[in-house]
Amino acid sequence: MLNPALGIISRYRDRLPVTDKTPVVTLGEGATPLIRADRLAEYAGLPADSVYLKFEGSNPTGSFKDRGMAVAVSKALEEGARGVLCASTGNTAASAAAYAARAGLRCMVFLPKGGVALGKLAQALMHGAKIKEVKGSFDKALIAAFAEAKKSGFVAVNSSNPYRIEGQKTAAFEISEVLGRMPDYQFMPVGNAGNITAYWKGYRELKGSKPKMMGFQAAGAAPIVLGNPIPNPRTVASAIRIGNPYSWQAALRARDESNGVIAAVTDREILNAWRLLARLEGVFCEPSSAAGVAGLLKSGKKGHLSGKIVCILTGHGLKDPDTPLKIFKS
Ligand SMILES: *Cc1c(COP(=O)(O)O)cnc(C)c1O
Repeated sequence: MLNPALGIISRYRDRLPVTDKTPVVTLGEGATPLIRADRLAEYAGLPADSVYLKFEGSNPTGSFKDRGMAVAVSKALEEGARGVLCASTGNTAASAAAYAARAGLRCMVFLPKGGVALGKLAQALMHGAKIKEVKGSFDKALIAAFAEAKKSGFVAVNSSNPYRIEGQKTAAFEISEVLGRMPDYQFMPVGNAGNITAYWKGYRELKGSKPKMMGFQAAGAAPIVLGNPIPNPRTVASAIRIGNPYSWQAALRARDESNGVIAAVTDREILNAWRLLARLEGVFCEPSSAAGVAGLLKSGKKGHLSGKIVCILTGHGLKDPDTPLKIFKS
């Protein structure tokens, strides 16, 4: 196996849309830990050695967005782009800013005003991105970003960019390699729905049985569950505060082809799962990342689950230092 520090393009070159001419922009993303979580399993009423946490907070900028950004920024550089831009609830901006800096490209980020966690904003600033605050939700910021991409010729590196999906699918490869088999279930948060689309693409490219894709939206931002866009999405989980997901249809395909579920969890359930991860397993993720685990705790109690279960923890808890201070002061 190649040195994991080389990043996902070197490790999975044969399964990614790159050639020998593609410059490799990497910060050593991927090869994140798959952590066995027996105490969480016990809490959920499941047997030992059944629940695993894929901790994507260990990526270079602290979220899974780095996998997709490595490929998207490498391709933008190959294609001679002047710069990259994105709309973001924070992590896409942090990742785009870092990879653009590394590639020597300019970067512009469109953020929902007041809706971005402190650490993510600090990252975008630090890496020198030009920040545009947009009044309203992520969905408005995305419209502004697409308009600017048309005008400026900067490449949009939102998950609408197919190279993002390609990069992010590599997490499915890692899970099956480390587990030595396919998981039976995968629990994860769903926001703009690029990541559930990417994992399903990754699993489809592998041989063998496929996991059921179990996606969870926050109850106040659950357009896919409700079947219509939400004009003012509300949840404590800012990374999934999205009312009109770009990959809506692809998420439904992932759900239906895998016999999975897309359901909602309340903020209370998200925060409970978030705290449990920190206290039972020593794993500090973002509130949004805990949405999948909140879904697992609900499903586990109903007694339908069996086999190997993977929960995707999408980002690092240090991204959002304000929420613990606000919520768990004692
Ligand atoms: C981007 C993000 C999500 C949502 O992923 P989508 O691909 O938009 O569904 C969830 N959690 C974190 C921490 C994120 O950064």
